Amino acid sequence: MKTIKIDVLTLFPAMFSAVMSESMMWKARDLGLLDFQTHDIRNYAGNKHHKVDDAPYGGGGGMILKPDALVRAIDAVKAEDSAPVILLSPQGRPLTHEVASELAKQPRLILVCGHYEGVDERAIELAISDEISIGDYVLTGGELAALVLIDAVVRLIPGVLGAVGAQHRDSHADGTLEGPHYTRPAEFCGLGVPDVLTSGHHAEVDRWRRQQALKRTWERRPDLLEKATLSDDDRAYLAQLEDAPGD
Ligand code: SAM
Repeated sequence: MKTIKIDVLTLFPAMFSAVMSESMMWKARDLGLLDFQTHDIRNYAGNKHHKVDDAPYGGGGGMILKPDALVRAIDAVKAEDSAPVILLSPQGRPLTHEVASELAKQPRLILVCGHYEGVDERAIELAISDEISIGDYVLTGGELAALVLIDAVVRLIPGVLGAVGAQHRDSHADGTLEGPHYTRPAEFCGLGVPDVLTSGHHAEVDRWRRQQALKRTWERRPDLLEKATLSDDDRAYLAQLEDAPGD
């Protein structure tokens, strides 16, 4: 059984409580597949007011997370471990399925949540080994980004989704988007369900699902198809779509 240990350094540990105590994140912890812990950076401030920010050299607005408190916190949590220390940052490499899969193979991750205007560059130079962004926009702090990363990583750990998950078909797992889903009732507001899904022909259902995934990707994210692994059948179906897009 593979267990991942995730330590998060943050100024707002309470932001993690609800998310990490519900649904799959709780299940992963309950099954012993995830060992999760938050660490309050303020505890490493080294001053009686627990002050961890200061004004930027050179002036300008905002405050900067001080390097001394942050490096002390990282050193204490990391100890002698070689675990990657990842700063959530809008300047980091983009979080993708590939990056989440790569992180899910690690035994331990240390995540650092920035705040204010950002983090003193010397702390990044000295103690951060990777920077990851969850998108091209700016959040107030790294906590929501860390939660997104944790969720994306933990659901890939074998045993977390169990038999219920069909994560091999999930969007981005093989470079395509997943096709549409249907459940009961068989008719809803005058709309039915594609016949193939109730046919009982598993091979036909698989074929339909693959074609729907390709169609949806072709319609919504054609850029993904340039990198996706495609079979000859996939290519033939895509060529058919190019010739007769309405079909
Ligand atoms: N001034 C910084 C800049 O322009 O690059 C942004 C600082 S932001 C207000 C505060 C913190 O939120 C960052 O240090 C980072 O930890 C987190 N953060 C903001 N946007 C993020 C994103 N897109 N992905 C990951 N973390 C983000």
